[in-house]
Amino acid sequence: MQTQLLNANDPHAVETAAQIIRDGGLVGMPTETVYGLAANALDGKAAARIFVAKGRPMDNPLIVHISEFDQIHQLVRELPDSAVQLAEEFWPGPLTMVLPKSARIPDEVSAGLDTVGIRFPSHPVARALITAAGLPIAAPSANTSGRPSPTTAAHVMHDLAGKIEAVLDGGPCGVGVESTVLTLATNPPRLLRPGGVTLEQLRSVLGKVDMDSAVLNPLKEGVKAASPGMKYKHYSPKANVIILEGSFEAYRNYVNTHCEEGTVALCYNGEGKELKVPCVCYGGEQNGSQQAHELFEALRRLDEMNAKTVYARCPEPTGVGLAVYNRLIRAAGFEVLHLE
Ligand code: AMP
Ligand code: MG
Repeated sequence: MQTQLLNANDPHAVETAAQIIRDGGLVGMPTETVYGLAANALDGKAAARIFVAKGRPMDNPLIVHISEFDQIHQLVRELPDSAVQLAEEFWPGPLTMVLPKSARIPDEVSAGLDTVGIRFPSHPVARALITAAGLPIAAPSANTSGRPSPTTAAHVMHDLAGKIEAVLDGGPCGVGVESTVLTLATNPPRLLRPGGVTLEQLRSVLGKVDMDSAVLNPLKEGVKAASPGMKYKHYSPKANVIILEGSFEAYRNYVNTHCEEGTVALCYNGEGKELKVPCVCYGGEQNGSQQAHELFEALRRLDEMNAKTVYARCPEPTGVGLAVYNRLIRAAGFEVLHLE
């Protein structure tokens, strides 16, 4: 299959992409978080193709995207007041709410669960595509499963060219990490995946919000994942990534005494000049939003450099930094070295 690269600024591009979705096809779609791989969320056969194209395990559910709040009513069985409050505060935006699903959601989309994740994205191209298709759109990140999520159309083409009908190029994504996933099917609500809407922001609206242990820790053997996506190795460049926790001085000393062939530093802006190995920067220290924006591009660059061992600076796990930490410890297979 030849994958069409459509420029979102072209006046016909969105309509072309919408027709592909109505016909059961797959389109790489820009959103404010990362690029999504879009299909008709009400068509189980179309959604099933997403799993094939990505090599995604069939038990990992897809998020359903809407472009008007009222579309949610046909997709869920219950809409608690808390969901309405959160929508007023954070939609459109990078928040996915997990709710009891309606019968209209095919099992392929919910991966057999009784719940469905719903998101109302703020990206104008995503919203235009959903509206033009006239359907809710199922979309996981548009990467090959296990690889860093795509934040540009070129990343999507790199992973999925030849496997999907089209990619709609709307430029680089703003937030840079996937949406916050919050389940409202438990009491109190529970954060399953951190993202651009922070735990602190959720608590300011809802009061008590729990954090699932899989946000910061590997899933224990035999324990069922509340969010199936969290159990898989994720976001991984090919290199062996090790997070070094501690001050910059301790980091610099460690890296500069462990510079073997193929070692690369994944550090903050401006730190490279003090390091004796090649470096890739992922934003400013203390700037979680900038780190989120740059992380996945940085992880992909490590592959292009053929990095073998990567020593990463440890993000501060608060605010948007919690999302950065959550992705990076998975890229590192939970390998964190605590420096003195
Ligand atoms: P992605 O689409 O690549 O951003 O992955 C979607 C994420 O949302 C995965 O981590 C899923 O496990 C999670 N997710 C989607 N739907 C549900 C659901 N119904 N219950 C729990 N987690 C979900
Ligand atoms: Mg993903």
